[in-house]
Amino acid sequence: MSHSVVQPKLIIHGGAGSSLQGKGGVAAVRQLLSGIVETVYQALLRGASAREAVVLGCRLLEDEPRFNAGTGSVLQSDGQIRMSASLMDGAAQRFSGTINVSRIQNPIELADFLQGQSDRVLSDAGSAELSRELGLPIYNPLTDLRLNEWIEERKDNFSKRSMASTVAEVSGAELSGAGVSGADSSAGRGTIGVVALDQQGRVAAGTSTGGKGFERIGRVSDSATPAGNYATDRAGVSCTGIGEDILDECLAAKIVIRAGDGLSLAEAFARSMQEAAGRGRDLGAIGLDATGAIAWGKTSEVLLAAYHNGDRLGDTLELPDGLQTGSC
Ligand code: ASP
Repeated sequence: MSHSVVQPKLIIHGGAGSSLQGKGGVAAVRQLLSGIVETVYQALLRGASAREAVVLGCRLLEDEPRFNAGTGSVLQSDGQIRMSASLMDGAAQRFSGTINVSRIQNPIELADFLQGQSDRVLSDAGSAELSRELGLPIYNPLTDLRLNEWIEERKDNFSKRSMASTVAEVSGAELSGAGVSGADSSAGRGTIGVVALDQQGRVAAGTSTGGKGFERIGRVSDSATPAGNYATDRAGVSCTGIGEDILDECLAAKIVIRAGDGLSLAEAFARSMQEAAGRGRDLGAIGLDATGAIAWGKTSEVLLAAYHNGDRLGDTLELPDGLQTGSC
């Protein structure tokens, strides 16, 4: 039996959206994402499986209130938080997820538990029941910022664009805790995702979200579907952006299947993003494959992603607006 060790690879994201303003914002987001990349990459070097690395990375990103997942999730139209997360273990080619779960800290942990179950995707009531069975503590992921965004939007009966801008998400003001008004706020941006390749050559992908913000009760995000998060033994992809656009493109599954079916990962990203841009979609995606290639793409203005390719850390924070793809 061969014991050759594969060089681990890692890419994470904290959402896609509109323009990223202010150097302070870029620097702070860069620091945040690179710190998490570093922690998870070290775990991979110590022998963590791709699945364990993905769960760790998603947990750290969910616990970071600046992102729209776990703590700091956006509110839906009725003022409630409902979170969705999924995990796909590429080696087992097994998908699990929770849709619209409330009052737990880390939805990705529920998705992780469901990997071993015969019923692997649960909606709201089932997720609540399972959380109770597992004894997960009741947790309120609400932050003052998200509550204030919702109050501002509600004043106008949610007439503003629900995914208005990423500026507030990443502005120095918010990152230093000063808060922002709902008028410039960006509920719905900041979904998180992690894709990892471990030392055994296994790929896994995870995605977690509070949704797109101010949505109708019962709306289902792409994040806990194979359109938003998918992996095989060859490649894995996590998406962010307008969930309906991602579902319409079936983006994660499409890129992964293309990458295993003759195109390189970079080509699969380029073709899929070009098609999505042609249809006016607003989205982004990150991915890697079992050969160690890392790739990303977006049609939105910014994609908040960072990666470790074994030699160095990199990120996508300062890509030009609009359609862009890249690889390393
Ligand atoms: N895709 C998520 C959703 O539509 C939102 C996001 O990625 O920012 O629920």
